[in-house]
Amino acid sequence: MIKTAAVLLLAILPVAPDEYDRQRQEMVDDQIADRRISDSATLHAMRTVPRHLFVPPHSVDDAYDDRPLPIGYGQTISQPYIVAYMTELLKPQADHRVLEIGTGSGYQAAVLAEIVDTVYTIEIITELENAAAERLKKLGYKNVKVKNADGYYGWEEYSPFDAIVVTAAAEYIPPPLIAQLKDGGRMVIPVGSPFFVQTLMLVEKRGEDITTESLIPVRFVPFKRAN
Ligand code: SAH
Repeated sequence: MIKTAAVLLLAILPVAPDEYDRQRQEMVDDQIADRRISDSATLHAMRTVPRHLFVPPHSVDDAYDDRPLPIGYGQTISQPYIVAYMTELLKPQADHRVLEIGTGSGYQAAVLAEIVDTVYTIEIITELENAAAERLKKLGYKNVKVKNADGYYGWEEYSPFDAIVVTAAAEYIPPPLIAQLKDGGRMVIPVGSPFFVQTLMLVEKRGEDITTESLIPVRFVPFKRAN
């Protein structure tokens, strides 16, 4: 009798928490550190944030795969490598205030929140914004502020930002975002037509001087506009 109960209990127990931790360390070793991401703060953040708690329940066991995953409403959580690459490009520092456009699941915001002082993140889809805000709160991320709005206009009130990251593909770089970037600041944004391959761009601001650099081909969901 006791034996049967024990077997039953084992069968209904979810995967042990350390199993996800093991998968996460493997993800960083095989998909990220191996692909020349070397910033120690970025690697540490990727080793820490429980990605499996940012995906829908039916995708939990795929959370550490080398690919993006659907998060509902036609949106996706980016591939882990892309999150790490964009994070490293921002050169995030402990005293930074960072703006993200496209909160989605809140995963990229959490990764940044492990490193910087405050993350301000904007999501245009109300349901995703609500879910991400609740998730981040539950996980104890007190240094992330989430807002439901069209991120095209940035978040003037808290500008200028040390860094800006956009996680949806825009046809062009929204001028308000350039305006809200600090002198010496960095912005990473996928630019190009929706549904085609886009280019990940690094934008740097030095005084009046704006420089852009094309990095790698990427595929992101489209940057929407509020009607
Ligand atoms: N950074 C997210 C990835 C989300 S995918 C993560 O880590 O999970 C991109 C998100 O950008 C989608 O949720 C989409 O709804 C949102 N988005 C698209 N256009 C937007 C806009 N103009 N303002 C704010 N969010 C936008």
